[in-house]
Amino acid sequence: MSHANCHGCSLCLLSCPMWQQHRDVQYSPQGLFKALQHNASHHDITPALFSCLLCGACDTLCPENIDITETIKTLRKETFSHGIEAELKQKITSLFTQQASSSKVKIEKHTIILPGKALRSNPMRLTKIQSLLSSEIDTSLSLDDGDDIALALEAGIEIPEHRLQRFLEPLQRAKRLYVSNGHLLKSLRQWLPASELLALGHGLSQLSTLTKKLNKNDLYLIEARSFHHDHQQKITHYDQLRHQQGCQMNLDLQRNAIPTAAGGLNAIKPMLDSKEQAHWILSGRNIQRIIVECAEDEVVMSQVSDLPILHIADLMEA
Ligand code: SF4
Ligand code: SF4
Repeated sequence: MSHANCHGCSLCLLSCPMWQQHRDVQYSPQGLFKALQHNASHHDITPALFSCLLCGACDTLCPENIDITETIKTLRKETFSHGIEAELKQKITSLFTQQASSSKVKIEKHTIILPGKALRSNPMRLTKIQSLLSSEIDTSLSLDDGDDIALALEAGIEIPEHRLQRFLEPLQRAKRLYVSNGHLLKSLRQWLPASELLALGHGLSQLSTLTKKLNKNDLYLIEARSFHHDHQQKITHYDQLRHQQGCQMNLDLQRNAIPTAAGGLNAIKPMLDSKEQAHWILSGRNIQRIIVECAEDEVVMSQVSDLPILHIADLMEA
């Protein structure tokens, strides 16, 4: 289904951060698609196109099954081809060159973790995560997180073949990969169909040694982007966890995980206020701790709340 099939039901507005912050229908899939149906130009829709977090919350709500996030990525790609947002494109493509020379070593491991930049900045936590996920078999960290590739995927920028090959080559022998970035996870599933691809936060949330420490005074923040890519499967898992431990989660009435706007494209081209997102998530809750799956969410939450904030891996010692 394409944007031409949008009939304007407004369901996608319910958990859309763009709509929540702007309160202007232009900043929503509904507004974007209506504009396109009336022949709006790429210039007209650029502000909304680049405000979208690609969190995927709208994809699970649309009754017409429009692949909204893929449509937005395609529209972004077209925008660049019209010469719009050239500076942003240049900023992201310059990262490919920097990455290309730092990723030549091959890893021969059964399981590989791609933790991403934010998690890498805490080596002790990373060692802990590696040990938590290494119970039966050898597990190693990828030498290349593919942060530049994730950013390009989010922006709708073409990835040079040589860069993609250099990134994928060491990963091809792995049977299982844990990936913290939701955008990367989705594409890796297409690029490495023989490997088992798991979201890192989701993988940790399956360890009862950690989750048994959750309680009714906790707000547990699911990493929204990877959650929405696997909504059917993950909602069952997180519902069970919520009922078992009694903790609260960043799920709204549609059981859609509300994202913070931390990290990704919004970090290099801020269009939505991540603190406002954090306030939305915390609004009306009576909690004593915040537990996050994603290291970027920890930073945002610490800016708006005095409560203790733990990464899920830190629950081991809690
Ligand atoms: S992906 Fe997220 S931010 Fe973008 S339109 Fe959908 S709900 Fe809104
Ligand atoms: S939920 Fe789908 S059909 Fe309804 S307004 Fe949004 S994009 Fe259009």
